[in-house]
Amino acid sequence: MQKYLKTKPLRSKMAKDCIFCKIVKGEIPCNQIYQDKDTIAFLDISPATPRGGHTLVISKKHYETLIDVPDKELEAMTRTVKKISKALLNLYPGLNLVQNNKKVAGQIVPHIHFHLIPRYEGDNLKIGYWSTYKYKEREELEIAERIKTLLK
Ligand code: AMP
Ligand code: ZN
Repeated sequence: MQKYLKTKPLRSKMAKDCIFCKIVKGEIPCNQIYQDKDTIAFLDISPATPRGGHTLVISKKHYETLIDVPDKELEAMTRTVKKISKALLNLYPGLNLVQNNKKVAGQIVPHIHFHLIPRYEGDNLKIGYWSTYKYKEREELEIAERIKTLLK
């Protein structure tokens, strides 16, 4: 009689080929700033501005986007973001918080992370310089309604 292996459902919170999971496991190095039970903060390998300090805050467990992270762990991430932001705002005059979800929005590493990007005069970074558009008649109301019905 054929034996069936009892396999556990695939619920591992580490993704095999994920670069940030490898950082969590210590398989690849990082310049770590802080860690606690749920989160790690480390310097981005390619800082967005010349004076550096660009920091990533990630969850230790593998989740792809903001909406995949359980609330408790997201709260832990927020606490870490605030803690690191305080330090960065002591060192630099300003700071942008960026969080990309999905490739189309610029997410290259599919493991939830926040970018903390120090800002200063003349840093030449172009965050927030988007064009603006006008809604067509009724379009604004319709879009708001569509979003609101999905909040339930
Ligand atoms: P995103 O485009 O939001 O997915 O950002 C991914 C970020 O991860 C980029 O800013 C990369 O420079 C950064 N990154 C990729 N690999 C590493 C690494 N090994 N150590 C630190 N930062 C990294
Ligand atoms: Zn991962």
